[in-house]
Amino acid sequence: MILVTGGAGYIGSHTVKALGEAGFRLVVFDDFSTGHPDFVRGVDVIEGNLGRMTDVQSVFDRYAIEGVVHFAGRALVGESSERPELYYETNVVGGLNLLNAMREAGVTNLIFSSTCATYGIPETENLGEDHPQRPINPYGETKLAFERAMAWFGSVHGIRHLSLRYFNAAGADAACEFGEDHAPETHLIPLVLGAAAGLRDRVEIYGTDYPTPDGTCVRDYIHVTDIADAHVTALQKLMAGTLEPQALNLGTGTGASVREVIDTVRAVTGRDFEVAESPRRRGDAPRLVALAERVAEVLGWRPAHSDLPNIVDTAWHWQLKRKKISL
Ligand code: UDP
Repeated sequence: MILVTGGAGYIGSHTVKALGEAGFRLVVFDDFSTGHPDFVRGVDVIEGNLGRMTDVQSVFDRYAIEGVVHFAGRALVGESSERPELYYETNVVGGLNLLNAMREAGVTNLIFSSTCATYGIPETENLGEDHPQRPINPYGETKLAFERAMAWFGSVHGIRHLSLRYFNAAGADAACEFGEDHAPETHLIPLVLGAAAGLRDRVEIYGTDYPTPDGTCVRDYIHVTDIADAHVTALQKLMAGTLEPQALNLGTGTGASVREVIDTVRAVTGRDFEVAESPRRRGDAPRLVALAERVAEVLGWRPAHSDLPNIVDTAWHWQLKRKKISL
């Protein structure tokens, strides 16, 4: 049995589907603070909070857990810069509860959802896994804290572990079963699509004076289905004992600026909308783009769904379905 924490969330739900299709038996642990009950079907679901050790322990008491895929956590750069306490509580304290419960139950396989936000300001054009990790916001800082705790628990208590450092997860399940649905929404692509759908008055560009070709931030958008598929291969290798403890980037190696995302949304949806230029958002790095070679070597994984028009197209169809909008 594989425990998936945060399996009702955006990336978690896509991965639960992919792991289920690959034949893994799964139990999802989620507090539904941001996850959705209708995103998890056909698997056992335990409602609980990582911050309560008794909740965490009860899962390990009830199930013979062989491995853990750990998604549960807070993941907003902006919010973390306003309320760091929430991020330490969930990502660090909650994470330590999970590590301790695994140690007590003798569970030795762990995949962790990490992030490119652990690197901080890039010192090279693209970010390789060996780039220094100097986070510039509490989100990245607390994710890095868990990476380090996991490495120590790994070497001392024999937990085999893998960090997957996601770049910007985007897009939606091709069958439209689930996709991004945050309240409030803060992510660029669903916000721009919301403007295209007429649900928002306008799009705001946070900062047009960055040292990038068009002055707006550049990100490496990676389709959530590609991220889910990487977890399947990673878990298979981890359970087979053929994976060294390490961190791998999940990105495409190609960046898109905020303006390029807006242009792609206009092209894919055929809709126009108002765009306003706003000040920079606290905690944002100008450019975050992966060097994505290592994951190709180690897992044989390459993105297959991540060209920007496809990301936007799948996210568009999901949003139309979720918000019950007909064209
Ligand atoms: N962004 C923006 N306007 C918005 C939301 C986001 O200009 O309404 C920018 C944001 O500053 C960042 C990029 O879009 O440079 C991606 O932001 P998002 O929140 O989607 O992901 P993050 O990179 O923070 O994980």
